[in-house]
Amino acid sequence: MNRTAVFPGSFDPVTRGHLSVIRRALPLFDHLTIAIGTNAGKTAMFPLETRKEWLLRLFAGEPRITIAAYSGLTVDFCRKINAGYLLRGLRSSADFEFEKGIAQMNQLMAPEIETIFLLCDLLYAPISSSIVRDILRNGGDVSRFIPEGISIPQTVKP
Ligand code: ADP
Repeated sequence: MNRTAVFPGSFDPVTRGHLSVIRRALPLFDHLTIAIGTNAGKTAMFPLETRKEWLLRLFAGEPRITIAAYSGLTVDFCRKINAGYLLRGLRSSADFEFEKGIAQMNQLMAPEIETIFLLCDLLYAPISSSIVRDILRNGGDVSRFIPEGISIPQTVKP
């Protein structure tokens, strides 16, 4: 059986926390599609193309990882690419409560798709893209929180 998982997110920007979950999940699946969700109601700090390029660069040497963008329901995207698993990372009990609701709704809509949670590595638990964006808006250094080799464009939206 081909175990394909989708790891959906905004990746605005990609962080060391994302990287850690992806690395740890890879041995569990045959293929992992990192899927950048695009939401008309949500404006990202970084353009989709930039977020995609970062991920493509990070995983260029990994044939079992695909980078994609999608809009609409995550379960519809999973069905479209024949993925049986949806992967999410958990940093805290707040993440759990939030993710539980989404996973249960997804299960009602698409019972054939199993959501798998990985507890995040302790070292990366406090890292979130939204805090990284706040630090950037205030002119701080985020290099410890984002993967090596990722460069943030000089012109960042306020
Ligand atoms: P979303 O807007 O869908 O939450 P994110 O890009 O913020 O998208 O996150 C994508 C996934 O990565 C989510 O499952 C989230 O829980 C997980 N994640 C985010 N930051 C970390 C971290 N520091 N450690 C582990 N998982 C994380």
